Amino acid sequence: MTEINKEQIRNNLSVIQQRIDQAAAKSGRNPSEISLMAVTKKKSAEVIRYLIDLNIRYFGENYPDETLEKIEAFKGNGHTTSLCMIGHLQSRKINIVAEHFDEYHSLDRLKTAVQLNKILKMINKTMPIFLEINIGDEDSKSGWTTENGKPSDQFLKDMEEIQTLSQLKVDGLMALPPVSENPEDSRPYFVRLRHILEKLNDNYGYSLHHLSMGTSIDYPIAIEEGATFVRIGTALTGPRI
Ligand SMILES: *Cc1c(COP(=O)(O)O)cnc(C)c1O
Repeated sequence: MTEINKEQIRNNLSVIQQRIDQAAAKSGRNPSEISLMAVTKKKSAEVIRYLIDLNIRYFGENYPDETLEKIEAFKGNGHTTSLCMIGHLQSRKINIVAEHFDEYHSLDRLKTAVQLNKILKMINKTMPIFLEINIGDEDSKSGWTTENGKPSDQFLKDMEEIQTLSQLKVDGLMALPPVSENPEDSRPYFVRLRHILEKLNDNYGYSLHHLSMGTSIDYPIAIEEGATFVRIGTALTGPRI
């Protein structure tokens, strides 16, 4: 099986952009508030270059070692791109994210935040951060679990600490709902994540601006429920082989 070509990506992108616009219109939102992140794990440097040519500016990667192998492609050839970590980060890979990534959208524990902050300080770099919420409270997922859909005491405590770390700029929340064939099944989880963000801003004095939620199967619903980033892999660049 050969990899996807640029024309196929262009066609996929045009369908996705239409669906983003429709979902935004349906919920009375401005499509310019919604960023499309291309998830490029297991995709080649060539596919990444096509995406940059097609004006994609946000990239999500899960495995730092794999990202390093194609790091040149993200440099953007004259365009500014943002390389975002969206997977679980092992301690020994934190330095890769510190040095080579622009944003970290899947911070899932205090310990990682502290270690990352320390490295960033040494290289004099700050980084936008999204906190990952285990929105379905699943054993198989990372991120902070909720208390019946509300921010847990542990989460609030950790967040307070993270907020004091000088190199990290907490900007939003990220979640991946339980897997389902029916995109409508994701909606209550997207609503939950939005409610958590509203609560943090209204009751605890934070000012978080972003909700990263929605993948190939359910991004229109995520947009209807307030997503400012949708993370799209297969619908844009085909199955990961
Ligand atoms: C792989 C991945 C995606 C993209 O999933 P698709 O179904 O290919 O769109 C989005 N978010 C995260 C966290 C991922 O790991």
